[in-house]
Amino acid sequence: MLKERIQELAKQIHPEVVAFRRHLHANPELSFEEYNTSAFVKATLDKLGVPWSAMANTGVVGLIKGEKPSDAVIALRADMDALPIKEANEVPYKSTQPGVMHACGHDVHTSSLLGVASILQQLRSCFGGTVKLIFQPAEEKIPGGAAQMIKEGVLESPKPMTVIGQHVMPSLPVGTVGVRPGKFMASNDELYITITGKGGHGAQPQQNIDPVVIASQIILSLQQIVSRVANPQMPTVLSFGKVIANGATNIIPDEVYIEGTFRTMDEAWRKEAHERMKKMAEGIAESMGATCDFKILQGYPFLINEEQTTARFRAFAAEYLGQENVTEVDIWMAAEDFSYYSHQADACFYMLGVGNEEKGIISSLHTPTFEVDEAALEIGVGLMAFVALNCLDI
Ligand SMILES: [Zn+2]
Ligand SMILES: [Zn+2]
Repeated sequence: MLKERIQELAKQIHPEVVAFRRHLHANPELSFEEYNTSAFVKATLDKLGVPWSAMANTGVVGLIKGEKPSDAVIALRADMDALPIKEANEVPYKSTQPGVMHACGHDVHTSSLLGVASILQQLRSCFGGTVKLIFQPAEEKIPGGAAQMIKEGVLESPKPMTVIGQHVMPSLPVGTVGVRPGKFMASNDELYITITGKGGHGAQPQQNIDPVVIASQIILSLQQIVSRVANPQMPTVLSFGKVIANGATNIIPDEVYIEGTFRTMDEAWRKEAHERMKKMAEGIAESMGATCDFKILQGYPFLINEEQTTARFRAFAAEYLGQENVTEVDIWMAAEDFSYYSHQADACFYMLGVGNEEKGIISSLHTPTFEVDEAALEIGVGLMAFVALNCLDI
């Protein structure tokens, strides 16, 4: 009964949610700069009659209270920021901001949560408890908006026992969702390494301390942290995407600069790996007469989907979408600052299918051609509302 009612409402408001999404898509804003997005969310909540408060500069927290008596609280989270990517899609709602694009689907997350707010607001007489709507800034940029929101009390008064979040996933067909209990996404730390030697003529290595050869050795040796030190059962990734040795065919430079990322799924190992990488790199540099400055910018922790909450989500999703449309996805070594909520409350972060091969909607997240099948906005909105109400008292 409730399911049919929600499906009907999700269908009814679908055009409006699509309009929200297209507005946000055309007007993307970078991390920590979501001023217009935040104003749009506040204005929409005002129209819906949902009280809200501001947090973490551009963050917004809406509260919907069911009319039946209950102390239950659930939080639903959407992120709002876009990426520094130039959109290549030729669509009427193409980004109007040069070099900024909603290429990670946060426009979908934000518009969906506004749709969910609309449905829950209309169904207030049907449930008891409180739904907290978390519109969060800056998921894409360390230190991220989630940590700031938590610091400012987003998970307090009222305190949610459960936090649910969704992320669009183009590799999953529209109409499906993917979920995984337990450890799901990785921690990510940024590595910035400078190796300083002594540059000079490429023909006279004996007079120089060649940072290029030392850097090469460091890059290769550090992979042993992954292959020889990490427990084979613990997912661990070390990748270097930037190496600058600005010499020439006959010039050995003074220094080499390297940037990389370290990802894993265990906090104790993460800490140990940091120390070992630093020690190894410094040791190699020192043994060759060079110095190594090894900086680590700590990113988000790993993301964990609480087993029981995830099992319940799965059951509700199967009820709403059909068992065949709920799939188990593999671990994903990307990072998400939803992870901060997952270490504070029982959380479930699931993937919403937005791909459609027939329509050619297959581009990956973070690409200039990323697009979604907007039918996902009806499914995502309805499903999230359905799951939220089932987690409360109905
Ligand atoms: Zn992203
Ligand atoms: Zn994202």
